Amino acid sequence: MEDSKNSKSAEDKNYPNTDYSEVDKLLHNTTEIDISSTPLASQVASELNKRSLLNKAEHPTPKNTRIMAITNQKGGVGKTTTVVNIAASLAKAGKNILVIDLDPQGNCSTALGINHESTVPSIYESLINSTPISDIIQPCPDINNLDVAPATINLSGSELELVSMVSRENRLKNAIENYMNYRHEQGLPRYDFILIDCPPSLGLLTINAFTAADEILIPIQAQYYALEGLSQLLNTINLVRTQLNENQKPPLMLITMYDARTNLSNDVVNDVNEHFPKQVLNAIIPQSVRLSEAPSHAQTIITYEPDSIGALAYKEAAYEIATWTYQKKI
Ligand code: ATP
Ligand code: MG
Repeated sequence: MEDSKNSKSAEDKNYPNTDYSEVDKLLHNTTEIDISSTPLASQVASELNKRSLLNKAEHPTPKNTRIMAITNQKGGVGKTTTVVNIAASLAKAGKNILVIDLDPQGNCSTALGINHESTVPSIYESLINSTPISDIIQPCPDINNLDVAPATINLSGSELELVSMVSRENRLKNAIENYMNYRHEQGLPRYDFILIDCPPSLGLLTINAFTAADEILIPIQAQYYALEGLSQLLNTINLVRTQLNENQKPPLMLITMYDARTNLSNDVVNDVNEHFPKQVLNAIIPQSVRLSEAPSHAQTIITYEPDSIGALAYKEAAYEIATWTYQKKI
């Protein structure tokens, strides 16, 4: 087995050759300010260092658009929260981002301040009627460089409608490809990242996301039964990879809703790292009231409370994703 995280030779040409000792220094540097003797002071110092380093960190621009599906068929694990905050972090770092809301609940559209009433043209029309994505996207009102393909309630009927359609697993992939070609022809800037928010199921919408995406991110809630259902999810991902999308990279995992006061949260972190040592991001998203409040203000944590611990954790995760180097084998 090769070490995917510490390797300095990026095997995949798409990604910049990252020096991970520099990344580590950036993310875990505690030498810039004095660390006092108490554990709390040292933690605060470390957070402050991280914050200032992350705010000035250069996020590499990928050579080709990176398309990532954020998925877990388990409900309420932090998929949408992860999509909107990683997207906002990357956009704030100057990357061009498209978020595709593929969940009929439309939570992602809400959190990004996007109108998604049932009359609004949405990803449903792109999937079912082949409406170009250029006709449905809306810019995020609060964040530059961030476009959103919204979801409306109409999408809830699409699983059934897709069943009888030609090339039903490839509808999203084709729509994205056509849109990227259109942007190229129009001289519009290329997206650096396209993030897809999946619904909590393994139906045809999620399969469309897996077929379209080169990369997968699985948020794992540091709570009860975190790993339950994970093998079913990984089997489905593998099936799509072998049959429909052989270039897809092995999935990454992000621990969410971590509560340091509970043994349970620490057990989940240990379990996930033990089972998937090369796929888990170092960043851990804490349980945070601020994170859960932000969507009700139609905002991400990055704009709502940019200096909060939740914002810092998502900026760290975004930086890690931007600099991640995949290896062929894990
Ligand atoms: P669904 O499966 O319904 O799409 P999801 O996996 O997308 O859910 P979210 O909607 O992101 O999950 O989060 C579920 C709930 O938990 C939301 O109310 C959200 O605001 C809240 N939440 C998400 N992450 C955190 C966190 N780190 N700390 C506290 N609350 C959180
Ligand atoms: Mg969601």
